[in-house]
Amino acid sequence: MIDRPEPSEPCSASLAPDRVSAALDWQLLADRVLAGHRLSTDEALAILHSPDEQILDVLAAAYRVRRHYFGNRVQLYFLMNAKSGLCPEDCGYCSQSKVSDAEIPRYNLLNAEKLLDGARVAAERQAKTYCIVISARGPSKSEIEAITSIVPRIKSQYDLKICACLGLLTPEQAQQLKACGVDRVNHNLNTSESFYGSICSTHSYQDRVSTLEAVRDAGMELCSGGIVGMGEAETDVVRMAFALRDLGVESIPINFLNPVEGTPLAGARQLNPRYCLKVLAMFRFANPDRELRIAGGRELHLGSLQALGLYPANSVFVGDYLTTKGQPPAADYKMIEELGFEITRHEEPGCQVAAAESQTA
Ligand code: SF4
Repeated sequence: MIDRPEPSEPCSASLAPDRVSAALDWQLLADRVLAGHRLSTDEALAILHSPDEQILDVLAAAYRVRRHYFGNRVQLYFLMNAKSGLCPEDCGYCSQSKVSDAEIPRYNLLNAEKLLDGARVAAERQAKTYCIVISARGPSKSEIEAITSIVPRIKSQYDLKICACLGLLTPEQAQQLKACGVDRVNHNLNTSESFYGSICSTHSYQDRVSTLEAVRDAGMELCSGGIVGMGEAETDVVRMAFALRDLGVESIPINFLNPVEGTPLAGARQLNPRYCLKVLAMFRFANPDRELRIAGGRELHLGSLQALGLYPANSVFVGDYLTTKGQPPAADYKMIEELGFEITRHEEPGCQVAAAESQTA
């Protein structure tokens, strides 16, 4: 279990971000971050506001940080939507919410055979982690029982880490998941605390933080990230990055909103791929030794630039997302190979890799 870091400064910029980015030397920033500097609000905003003509410089600097902790290795994750479209919550970005008319599959928790078969596919696709996700405010007693009985069977048959994403958890439920062998729980903060009320009214940001704290107290790793492109300001993206840093999450998935028809956010503003790359770079500088995963919306928003996202990020999902399509796995393998990167299935918390490197340097 890692120590909880010092809380970040309050997020308010003191200099115009454009002025800061004009003055920043990105390689120098990488040097400072690798030496232990905690990214400031001004620096984070400067990355998001950096001129497009500096984007390769920003990515090159972020890549130095990524390479220090993770080399050229890429971790693959495989998602199983184990219960779809039946959620009583009202998250505006989500096609599975009660306020969504999106045309998606709706079904209750898959049976054990289907969950086991998903694990087989995850292993075949070289995923390190099998992510079991249900649409719910939180798991019912029978859902917890089903998950806690299938996880040991999966782990006895496949060399996979298990990440469970079951909604809000009580401390007791977190303990049950830990006891059955769940390695990690995903529960995204999604955005900043101040913007949270704009995307959901049926639970609060603090509810989500409490779940993450219960997971940590139970002794599991935290997977928590967010969604960019929901109408939030750049300061909200920075606040989220710093909140995740303060919580010490091990794994950060960054989604770029796919505004699905039938959801309240169907008309949300479009992102451009250069901004998405700057977001990924900012998260790498803010959370230098944490897993950073390009999640949903990768293909849609990064388009032909998605390979560049792997310079700051070290992980992607292979296959489809919960209710939207990903690109074929073969396209991911080709992209990784053409970059000269390699898929890894080994456990490699960045901080441990860094410690080993510094001992052999
Ligand atoms: S709690 Fe999860 S599944 Fe339910 S609406 Fe929100 S994001 Fe969707």
